Formats: sequence, structure tokens, C-alpha cells
Amino acid sequence: MTPAPLAFEEAERIVLAAVPRLEAEEVDLDQSLGRVLAYDVRSDVDMPPFDKAAMDGFACRLTDAEGEVEVVAEIPTGTWPGKRIADGQCARIMTGAPLPAGAETVVMMEQSEACGQGRVHLRGGGAAANICWRGEDVQIGQVVLGAGRAIGPAQIAVLAAVGCVRPKVARRPRVSVIVTGSELVEPYRRPGPAQIRNSNGQQLCAQVQRTGACAHDYGIVPDHEQLIEEMAARALADSDLVIFSGGVSVGAYDFVPQVLLRIGVEVLFHGVNMQPGKPTLFGRRGQTLCCGLPGNPVATLVVFELLLRPLLLRMMGAAIEPRLVPAVLATDFARKKSERQATVPVRFDAHGAVAPIEYHGAAHISAISQADALLVVPAGTKDLAAGSKVHVRPL
Ligand code: AMP
Ligand code: MG
Repeated sequence: MTPAPLAFEEAERIVLAAVPRLEAEEVDLDQSLGRVLAYDVRSDVDMPPFDKAAMDGFACRLTDAEGEVEVVAEIPTGTWPGKRIADGQCARIMTGAPLPAGAETVVMMEQSEACGQGRVHLRGGGAAANICWRGEDVQIGQVVLGAGRAIGPAQIAVLAAVGCVRPKVARRPRVSVIVTGSELVEPYRRPGPAQIRNSNGQQLCAQVQRTGACAHDYGIVPDHEQLIEEMAARALADSDLVIFSGGVSVGAYDFVPQVLLRIGVEVLFHGVNMQPGKPTLFGRRGQTLCCGLPGNPVATLVVFELLLRPLLLRMMGAAIEPRLVPAVLATDFARKKSERQATVPVRFDAHGAVAPIEYHGAAHISAISQADALLVVPAGTKDLAAGSKVHVRPL
């Protein structure tokens, strides 16, 4: 590790600058959730495609919206109205049905009264109402979703509406996760003396998947230089990003940094001025990036969220969400030392303010599991009073 760890912002800049852009592929619309659009999608239709009723009611001329008129037609959805509406006439129309020729307004059902003999009394006022005009939402040829947009349910609705059933999206980054530590056993096993369960492997794979990338779990490697090297060489050969958990600090059995150097990784930084997460290492070999995260579970989670999630989003060409959003502190916050940027688990209270969760350091994963967000306290800031404006990263 370098003697003076890098400022977090500098580490973030180096990470984002190192990211290659992935190529695009076509996927089925029903497989596109969480992917990132690789091009601008344009509409092949006007939306709505015709002037349509926005309410169940009666379509008539504007001058007939107040008074008694004859009902001359009924227009359900899915049928094209054949009859032109003349003065003194109206058509009973359903929400979503096309407006008949001649009609200028739709008087809603609730503002009408049947008067028998096929006639109805309307109280619709004097202005055109309850019509969605052709093309008022989207015009044919208009860009409806831009390149870099992440696809969620609302975007899937738009793609469906414009007939884009095979959107072009960035290929999923291939991310390998290698967990190091001779004390670790897989979660399905009961730990023996001096052992603990590997929680980082599952957690990192989940974080990778949530970001829209493919996770390849290489499992646990003991703190054994040769074994780590073999695993690292395999993972580097078939990944866009290799994440190592544990073994990146200065302990006698922390072999990851030297192994990476030996297999030709260019280390771009080792040591970041953040807490937790100080021993974080980042490097690259060719197009493949690799990151060594400290094994402490909270550090692993935090560094992934703050550095690797933006990295993967950038790789897919996503417009990166704001890293931090403003919030207000619900209670006082104090810390003993202030040299490093701190990341603290917080919860939103009923008023939308954030309150730190009691937290015993980088191994306290159960505290993080209660958190709604991570409060980021800048290097140099020690105490913060209740009501202070702060920045958080929602989880
Ligand atoms: P290290 O970064 O290897 O020095 O590990 C720091 C601390 O995190 C140690 O207490 C480890 O036992 C713990 N730890 C390392 N890897 C994991 C893991 N995969 N799951 C849970 N805890 C871990
Ligand atoms: Mg270790």
C-alpha cells in the first residue's frame, strides 16, 4: 500500500477512466429488465394513434355540450366510428375509443342524464374536454428512450408501446468473484473452531447481479499464494472485472497484491482514504479490470457500492445515477478521527431525515442489513449536528 492513501474522489476518477465500453447485443423485450440501452429508440407510431375519448361519456359538437341531444351511435373501444356527428347529435363513447368525425368534445357520463326516446341531457360546459389528441404524448419518429437509459418496468412499457421487441443493449459485464481466506467455509457448512462463514461471496454476487452484470462465483481460496495465483490467472482470462475479497492488506498472508503484480496486472492504486475500505486495490491487465476489496464484510459492501457499481454501470454505457443525494441528518453525529472519508449506515425516519444506525465497525454486517442508505462523511469533517445537510447513497 502507498504510504499516503489516495483521496476517494481521485480513486473514483481513476476507476471510471479505466473502464472500457462493452459491445451491444439484441435481447428479447422480456429479458431486458436491468439492461442498458445501446442506442436511441424512436417511436414507430403517434401516441395516441388517433384522437380518443379520455372518459366514458358522450361525444358531440361543442355547441351541444349543454342541453338535450339525440344519441345516434355507440362507439366501443377497438371499433372505428362510421357515423359523423352533426348538430343536435351525440355518440355514446367509451374510454379509449376513437372520436367520431364532427365531434369536438366528450361530456363525461357523470355530467349527463338520460331523458328517454334515445335522447340525453348534457351538462358539459363550453370548452372542449376529455379528449386525448393524436400524437400529444409522442410523435412518430420521436426518440422515446435515449442510449444509456437503464431499462426498468416503465421503460419496458415504452418499448412495448413502440413495438421495440428486440432492444439493443450493452452486453452484460462478466464479473468473477474470488474470495480469499483460510478461515472461511461456505455458508451451508457449520464453521469449526477458528472458522467463519463466507458471506462476502454471496453478497458480492448479489451486488453484481443487481447492477445488471453476470456474476461468476469462483468460491473460496485459502491464503496460499500459489492457489490464489492459479485462480486469479483463470479468472482474469475470462472476465471483464475480477473482484477479490480479502487478503489485500499488509498482513503476512495477504497475497493478493503480489500475485496480481506477478501475473501482469498494472496496479493503478492500492490504498484509499476511506473508512471502511482503506486497503482497496485497483488495477488492470489489458481490457480486464481487477479490484481487491478488504475482507471485512461492511468494507466489501461499501466499496462495491461506491466504486464498483458505478464502474459496471459505466461499462454498460449507463448514464450514471448521481453518486450521492442530499439528505438532512436526524440526530447528532460524532466520530473520533476525521482524516478519512467515512461511510456510515443510516435509516430514513418518518420525516425523510437520516439517522445513523449503531455500528461497531467493518465486521458489523447486521448493522448494514438494517440500513436504507450509506451516509458519506467527507474527510476532515468530524462532528455534524442534527439538521445538518449531508449526502447519502441510497442502497
Ligand atoms: P482480510 O481482508 O483478509 O484481512 O479480512 C478481514 C476480516 O474480514 C477478517 O476478520 C476476515 O475473517 C473477514 N473476512 C474475510 N473474508 C470474508 C468473507 N468472505 N466473509 C466474511 N468475512 C470475511
Ligand atoms: Mg484474510
